[in-house]
Amino acid sequence: MKILIINAGSSSLKYQLLNSKTKEVIAKGNCEKIGLSKPFISYKHNGQEQTFPGAKNHEEAIEKVLQILTNKDYGVLKSLDEIEAVGHREITGGWIYNKSELITDELLKQLKKFDELAPLHNPANVLGMVACRKVMPNTPQVAIFDTAFHQTMPEKAYTYAIDYKDSQKYHIRKYGFHGSSHRFITLEAAKVLGKKVKDVNLIIAHLGNGSSITAVRGGQSVDTTMGLTPLQGLVMGTRCGDIDPTVVQFLMNKKKMTVDEVMNYLNKKSGLLGVSGVSSDHREVEAAAKEGNKRAELADEMLCYSVRKHIGSYMAVLNDVDAVVFTGGIGENSAATREKIISNMENLGIVLDKKKNKNFKRGQVELISDAKSKVKIYVIPTNEELMMAMDTEEIVKKLKKSK
Ligand code: ADP
Repeated sequence: MKILIINAGSSSLKYQLLNSKTKEVIAKGNCEKIGLSKPFISYKHNGQEQTFPGAKNHEEAIEKVLQILTNKDYGVLKSLDEIEAVGHREITGGWIYNKSELITDELLKQLKKFDELAPLHNPANVLGMVACRKVMPNTPQVAIFDTAFHQTMPEKAYTYAIDYKDSQKYHIRKYGFHGSSHRFITLEAAKVLGKKVKDVNLIIAHLGNGSSITAVRGGQSVDTTMGLTPLQGLVMGTRCGDIDPTVVQFLMNKKKMTVDEVMNYLNKKSGLLGVSGVSSDHREVEAAAKEGNKRAELADEMLCYSVRKHIGSYMAVLNDVDAVVFTGGIGENSAATREKIISNMENLGIVLDKKKNKNFKRGQVELISDAKSKVKIYVIPTNEELMMAMDTEEIVKKLKKSK
């Protein structure tokens, strides 16, 4: 089944056309700077890359993407009918959705309720859905929620220790994110471990620009490091991760910032970027640290320490762990980071095979633990778009059967 996956942001719209059966990526790209000056659309297919003039709004962006995909010279589709369904990434399913859903008028109405939870992402995601339904009114569309996989967390894990009445009334709680990635890795890990999904216990470290760790018991998320928003948890590219909330008050007083300015500072100017002063990109921070930049070294050490600490806490949560899995741009590519995180964990039963770790070829599933390690350590490439396509396919198949 050919499925179009859409990830709409406020001024960008990423697209990927996949064959859910062969898992092949047929084409992909990004509509950048939508509505801004010099918008453009990138388009990759068959090893080629092209750029086209961009769009002034989301609807036009979808229209242009569909024109590109069906162009008779460089397109990959003969007709739009070949696209059997569209899957949309949706930042949050809030307190309502714990699995992917067919997009209907009613669902769109419900999604409006989440604007407060994710003011930057939710309206943009919905905009993408509305635009796509308008342009492709006869193609079934599915919303895949970043938070859905984590809705199995027990109340004690997702409740913040504030006045219970407030957390109930305003839905202030941990939701968790990166759900498609953590779910994909859970399914893949079960395969390589030779276990049923319902029997696997995992600690999954998704480390990229945004990072989160999830504790999986019996194939289900029981805790995760991101919270009400993706700001909580690990030290990330530009996000601070866990801090004492009093820091907000301090910054407001000392720097005469508004609360919105402080939140922007914590989301966009902190993490690796804030500490190192060099970059939010881990490779650049690693390179600067190697050249003797002390702040870059500290930033890298803080990232590794925050991951290590959460792995330790999830060992305590789960007690019995089949595997620690690394994924995401940093998790899949940086052997040095994996080694820093995992060294000296022998007493927890986690022993890295340093040689295997170093020699690992990216893009593969690889066991990198020592034979004597009680807990296995894997690197598994994530594929969020494929997970979204698989979900979309399942829902559309059910829909077809019910007709
Ligand atoms: P996103 O969260 O935006 O999906 P990715 O999962 O693509 O991000 O991860 C991006 C991060 O991965 C960047 O910080 C980048 O520097 C880092 N990264 C990619 N390749 C390497 C590498 N070979 N060594 C270290 N870090 C890497």
